[in-house]
Amino acid sequence: MAAARDAFPRWRALPAPKRGEILFRAAERLVQKKEELARDMTREMGKVLAETRGDVQEAIDMTYYMAGEGRRQFGQTTPSELPDKFQMSVRMPVGIAGLITPWNFPMAIPSWKMMPALVLGNTVVIKPATDTPLSVANLVGVLEEAGLPPGVVNMVTGGGADVGAPLMQHEDVGIVSFTGSTAVGRKVSEACAPAFKHCHLEMGGKNLIMVMDDARLDLAVEGAVWGGFGTTGQRCTAASRITVHKKVYREFAESFVERARALRVGDGLDPEVEMGPCINEAQRRTVEGYVKIAAGEGAKLLCGGHRLEGGAWAHGYFHEPTVFGDCSPSMRISREEVFGPVVSLIPVGSLEEAIEVGNSVEYGLSASVYTQDINKAFTAMREMYTGIFYVNAPTIGAETHLPFGGTKHTGNGHREACVQALEVFSEWKSIYIDYSGHLQRAQIDTGE
Ligand code: NAD
Repeated sequence: MAAARDAFPRWRALPAPKRGEILFRAAERLVQKKEELARDMTREMGKVLAETRGDVQEAIDMTYYMAGEGRRQFGQTTPSELPDKFQMSVRMPVGIAGLITPWNFPMAIPSWKMMPALVLGNTVVIKPATDTPLSVANLVGVLEEAGLPPGVVNMVTGGGADVGAPLMQHEDVGIVSFTGSTAVGRKVSEACAPAFKHCHLEMGGKNLIMVMDDARLDLAVEGAVWGGFGTTGQRCTAASRITVHKKVYREFAESFVERARALRVGDGLDPEVEMGPCINEAQRRTVEGYVKIAAGEGAKLLCGGHRLEGGAWAHGYFHEPTVFGDCSPSMRISREEVFGPVVSLIPVGSLEEAIEVGNSVEYGLSASVYTQDINKAFTAMREMYTGIFYVNAPTIGAETHLPFGGTKHTGNGHREACVQALEVFSEWKSIYIDYSGHLQRAQIDTGE
């Protein structure tokens, strides 16, 4: 914290285009080291190599994007209501940004927070997830190699209670940006409230794919496999529930289960492997807990349901891709975030019913619809109260130049990425310049 405080005046005084040039060099360096960084990440947290390359690529995209903001950060100029007066708005940094990040996107998510914070002139203290410090250490190393001055980014490793809590409570932190579970997000929000600290929260999800009776089922099945089991279902945007129109339910379920059963689970460094492990034993137990809960509630286990141990699965916390059928929208498996390779299928009779099911949960991150009917697509697009929506694609696949985040218990009204991220890490200052040479009083009717 002391290093971040000392570095702040010099960093904010460096012209923003120069800050952007450092980020640009960091992006170039990330490109050069992409393969090495991706391999480190797979070894660190198990995602398959194709996905960890994607994670590093997101960091590259975000770093280039925010490097460009060094020459934008546009404010407003607007005519004054008084003569000989000029007015404009400019952004200013908040100060020290305290960042707390999860393990599922160990480089992408830290970059989504760090790069906008830096280009705006803030200094940073980041606490990576306890299980994934290496990927953040690698990112910080790249920023150092790119010429970031000492003290501008600082990383402190350790657990949530030991390091995260003191960080978010520290009086010098002006903005806390957190991505993680809704339960911890609530604590962050409460810790920030007494001092009115800025607080940016990206939290859990229970994302939905809607498969309509006119959908191209081959496309929907492929999307559901990727959305449900990509990253072992450990994405905040993972498609963990699928409403399927009753007319195509059986056909979809059979084909989806066949594909889920065939997924090759194992070491993410093996190019043949399609799904890696759960992040740790606690997460695997959570998955097993939900398998029991679902079976107890009467959901029908269609495939999977067990941990995978021994042999190729001896080193890691592997679990079978698991599908539950005939789920009702009120079951816990249809409403709560599992964060593992478990998907529930919910039969519905219409688009309206699918939308009602979709909006009935506490989260509002991502949803999608598979249909060939443009009227249905636009209706679903309008009615789903989520921060992200896809048509004929799964619930995952966000790009860095559109806002990212969710409604209800997924977020607190802010957005990551795109220009919206600039709002999180800056304050606006409105400036009025009077060159009339005499006192002019705004909003005062002089009667002239
Ligand atoms: P988590 O809430 O357990 O941990 C997130 C971070 O908070 C970690 O760095 C952790 O050490 C820290 N932390 C834990 N307790 C804390 C405390 N008392 N005070 C301060 N910090 C504390 O979440 P996780 O298991 O790392 O990640 C999974 C969750 O993250 C899921 O709910 C997932 O949906 C969510 N997530 C959301 C998004 C999004 O953009 N909406 C993206 C990725 C993950």
